[in-house]
Amino acid sequence: MKTTYIGHSKVCFLVSLFLCATVLLNISWRQRDSSQSLLQCNSTCSHKYLKPKLKEAHLTDQHKKWETFRLNTKPASGTGQGYKHFVKEPLQIKDLFIAVKTTKKYHRNRLNLLMQTWISRAKEQTFIFTDWEDQELRQKAGDHMVNTNCSAVHTRQALCCKMAVEYDKFVLSDKKWFCHLDDDNYLNLPALLDLLSAFSHNTDVYVGRPSLDHPVETVDRMKSDGSGPLKFWFATGGAGFCISRGLALKMSPWASMGNFISTAEKVRLPDDCTIGYIIEGMLEVKMQHSTLFHSHLENLQRLPPKSLLKQVTLSYGGPDNKWNVVRVSGAFSLADDPTRFKSVHCLLYSDTDWCPNHKHKPSA
Ligand code: UDP
Ligand code: MN
Repeated sequence: MKTTYIGHSKVCFLVSLFLCATVLLNISWRQRDSSQSLLQCNSTCSHKYLKPKLKEAHLTDQHKKWETFRLNTKPASGTGQGYKHFVKEPLQIKDLFIAVKTTKKYHRNRLNLLMQTWISRAKEQTFIFTDWEDQELRQKAGDHMVNTNCSAVHTRQALCCKMAVEYDKFVLSDKKWFCHLDDDNYLNLPALLDLLSAFSHNTDVYVGRPSLDHPVETVDRMKSDGSGPLKFWFATGGAGFCISRGLALKMSPWASMGNFISTAEKVRLPDDCTIGYIIEGMLEVKMQHSTLFHSHLENLQRLPPKSLLKQVTLSYGGPDNKWNVVRVSGAFSLADDPTRFKSVHCLLYSDTDWCPNHKHKPSA
């Protein structure tokens, strides 16, 4: 009886071993299969080809995120870039470097509102690039206020000067993503993390919203293959944009240590346009067009209130265009919150102490 029992266990053990080996072999062959297909796929691969492969990889949560991103983002035409950059990467707020461009005259009204709202949720990540040594701001922001020593005027040179300082400071940091914002942008941090985690910071990613419906066409510069004039898209700075670290490092010959200003001077383009020129024109990396970024160049009232909290950035029209604000009901009246940023903030963070009916966050 004993021998039969031991013999039986041995058989069971051997059968389980065989089954495990079969399962493992199967998995490893499947993985080889799908990674080979992805590696063979260059930028000319069609979306049709890649999509089933991604499905096969069972990228559950991440895949869902990707689908949401895909619905809101137009992949660069014909390149399959969006698919190529799809790599699982849990992204945290500490991985971001957020640059806010401002100027002396906007410290009080514009910047204070941002400090009160979204910057308060990303103090460690946010750096304020300005042109004046404001003691009050210095007290609040400490070394997160960067006095660029650029001149306080709205000229191409002055704005490029600030962008150059932003870029250099990001490169010196250890962050994975560089995001640039103007001081009239609301940044929805959870939505930004959601968007960027669809990409890998080691690959070439430039994501934002174009302000034009066509690429910029240069008159005196040719494509590298000489087939026609150089054309490139750029993400409008007024809506904010992000660049992966991998790509930012490649921009260095045109952007680091004073080179950004000379590049902008050479092509006579504004700061955000020069970024597009370097990335699309020089490095031949396609911009990811996203409809989740918003500037006051668009009609912000048209944004469906239901999708408001999914947007990555928002803006407002300012005194000349007071009506151009997002439609959000709730917390504050238009008189108390003319930009609507406070109302949006209270919907995103109901535990904020100045929000009407604020809810205490349950202690962990
Ligand atoms: N800005 C600046 N220096 C100036 C004027 C504006 O750095 O002399 C910044 C401003 O703080 C904002 C961005 O440039 O972050 C865009 O300015 P604004 O919104 O006034 O103009 P827009 O180009 O959006 O109409
Ligand atoms: Mn603006």
